[in-house]
Amino acid sequence: MDFGLSEEQRRIRERAAEFADREVAPNAARLDREDRVPFETLEKLAEMGFVGLCVPEEYGGAGADFVSYCLMLEELSRADAGVGVTLAVHTSAGTMPILEYGTEEQKARWVPDLAAGRKIGCFALTEPTTGSDAAAIRTKAERVEGGYRITGHKQWITNGRIAGTAIVFARAEGGNTEGPTAFIVSTDADGVSFGKHAKKMGVISATTDDLLLDDVFVPEEDLLGEEGKGLKVALGTLDPGRIGIAAQATGIAEAAFRYATAYAAERETFGKPIAEHQAIAFKLAEMQTKIKAARLLTLKAAWAKDKGMRVTEAGARAKLFASRTANEVAYDALQTLGGYGYMKDESPVERYYRDARVTEIYEGTSEIQKLVVSRGILREYEESLEAPGGVPQGRSVVG
Ligand SMILES: Cc1cc2nc3c(=O)[nH]c(=O)nc-3n(C[C@H](O)[C@H](O)[C@H](O)COP(=O)(O)OP(=O)(O)OC[C@H]3O[C@@H](n4cnc5c(N)ncnc54)[C@H](O)[C@@H]3O)c2cc1C
Repeated sequence: MDFGLSEEQRRIRERAAEFADREVAPNAARLDREDRVPFETLEKLAEMGFVGLCVPEEYGGAGADFVSYCLMLEELSRADAGVGVTLAVHTSAGTMPILEYGTEEQKARWVPDLAAGRKIGCFALTEPTTGSDAAAIRTKAERVEGGYRITGHKQWITNGRIAGTAIVFARAEGGNTEGPTAFIVSTDADGVSFGKHAKKMGVISATTDDLLLDDVFVPEEDLLGEEGKGLKVALGTLDPGRIGIAAQATGIAEAAFRYATAYAAERETFGKPIAEHQAIAFKLAEMQTKIKAARLLTLKAAWAKDKGMRVTEAGARAKLFASRTANEVAYDALQTLGGYGYMKDESPVERYYRDARVTEIYEGTSEIQKLVVSRGILREYEESLEAPGGVPQGRSVVG
């Protein structure tokens, strides 16, 4: 067992941390206030190779592993969780499904622009009437000569109005209707427009918009995977995507913890720093312990992804724990600051508290993560009954 990072992983983390502190953190409060996407930051991240960090070099990416990608996401999210999720959705939800499920022709045509940041990607599954229940989407893809015509309303799409391409899920009519079908859609196509821009509680520097599709022609060659098998694409995309959100949540928690620690060491009440009151000292101890556990779950899941292992449960566990940790740590950090924590202009902790909240909602709510994990537990149990002797093995489900 080796918990050390490779030379390259350490180098990527250091570059990300340095950039996050120098370029991202100083702008975070202003972007949060102004509800603005930091295009200049995204351009610089593209120049650094961070926009296509874990995309193979043959498709224009930096060819780093998934562990490195998670280390980068944690560092950027520590500075601005909106920048973190912009990159997370662009990479794991907007680019990786093409690498995972696309044909060679699709990879060559779409991925290099995404890897270089010339185009931003988004992932359009959710609709006004359905989120968790992905199979219940209503967007239609009518079969026509040479392709499909898609009509529907996608809601709360991260990167929506800044995206050049969208992975769109629709119900194919007249063909295989057993489940949704995935398509790669250019946002330049006739009939694509952006509706409402969501006014959110947190991660405000990431734009979240409705994507409207009105009789959009999508050629046959832009079908992603097989008709009727889009749920496989969606769930297969979300498995590693959740590891990225776990990294984002860990970054938010780390930021809140660091701020609270510095504050507790300096602020005095009753003749000593509040960090020397046991109630505050114990909060810091709990915060740090939970963050380290969240990071381990996250990096272990990322490592498993790099090894080509199935990460459905590992990703769900990492996201479940890291997102809860982000919320608990932000809560305790705010409490550590007292009234100063509650004020918008006195510290960033109020923003961390708001940013943490959504990590329990997007890319599958915490309830959905528990469904995934509990199904895995039962499957393991049943498999252990089928093992020689038919006795439950009591094996660990971790891994
Ligand atoms: C800021 C933001 C950005 C987003 N970005 C994107 C994006 O880029 N692309 C995209 O497609 N979507 C995106 N979403 C949508 C997000 O993925 C959904 O909000 C999420 O999946 C939950 O769906 P819902 O909001 O419809 O809640 P619902 O599915 O209606 O669930 C409501 C509540 O019921 C619970 N629940 C539902 N089913 C079960 C069950 N079987 N068992 C137990 N509890 C259950 C849920 O956990 C939740 O608490 C985004 C959302 C937000 C807030």
